[in-house]
Amino acid sequence: MCLRRVVLLAVLACGLVARAQQQPDFSKTEVRTTHVGGNVYMLQGEGGNIGVSAGADGLLMVDNEFLPLAEKIEAALHAINPGKLKFVVNTHFHGDHTGGNVHFGREAPIIAQTNVRKRLRVVPAAKQEPLPLLTFDDSMSVQFNGEEIKVVHVPHGHTDGDSIIFFTKSNVVHMGDQFFCGRYPNIDLGGGGDVRGYIRNVELAIERIPADAKIIPGHGPLGTIKELKEFHEMLVGTSSFVEKQIAAGKTLEQVKAEGLPEQWKSWDQAPIREGRWLDILYRGLSAKPAAPGAKAP
Ligand SMILES: [Zn+2]
Repeated sequence: MCLRRVVLLAVLACGLVARAQQQPDFSKTEVRTTHVGGNVYMLQGEGGNIGVSAGADGLLMVDNEFLPLAEKIEAALHAINPGKLKFVVNTHFHGDHTGGNVHFGREAPIIAQTNVRKRLRVVPAAKQEPLPLLTFDDSMSVQFNGEEIKVVHVPHGHTDGDSIIFFTKSNVVHMGDQFFCGRYPNIDLGGGGDVRGYIRNVELAIERIPADAKIIPGHGPLGTIKELKEFHEMLVGTSSFVEKQIAAGKTLEQVKAEGLPEQWKSWDQAPIREGRWLDILYRGLSAKPAAPGAKAP
């Protein structure tokens, strides 16, 4: 009993330390604005990149970073366009993309895939309200600022609730965390994510995105189809490397000690360093692949 209590306290303490480490000093953060194309802008602060549609209908934002940055983000939004915020889209449930829901969700309805709402509901109440008001299973469109903005769900990849957003006339795509530009991605295996599914989703995006489109990644600099294809190559290369190590009977510790081949070193950047990427690949690829067409629970 006593030991269990000690273990529980240790786990709680680790959680607190981890959370404290995750909270950067937002007072020093600057929110940078980039015009991407047509009506679309990108805002970059501390968390996931924000996409903005700005025009005669007002503003629509895709993701909203951390709550302490809400005022700076709001100032950046209104520097682009003084119009009203009309819609907030969440690409997925992670806090570095949805922390600002508490602020921006009071100004405008939040749109998200059904599983995003389900997962946000387990977050402590003070951080979850308001929840997404408009939910969908597969896809939905918003006719806004003279173009169709398509919000398309992709199955089990980064999480189980990710969407890719197509600004069809502006020729811009926001991929959320289905794309980390020039760096290893996070795949949330505990949040419905799947390594093979993640790679399949990137392949679907490559097929679907026009060759001359601009691509806003969840993390990293603005990209194009070229960077997305390089990302895909890295995903396929590093995952088949780790699959072979697993087949050869190596332990995770051995795989980490050996590291990845030199050709992938430039991808080893914050927030997902090589050790964490190997961890994700090893755990994700050790799981048996689902039978084709099988539905995950
Ligand atoms: Zn994420």
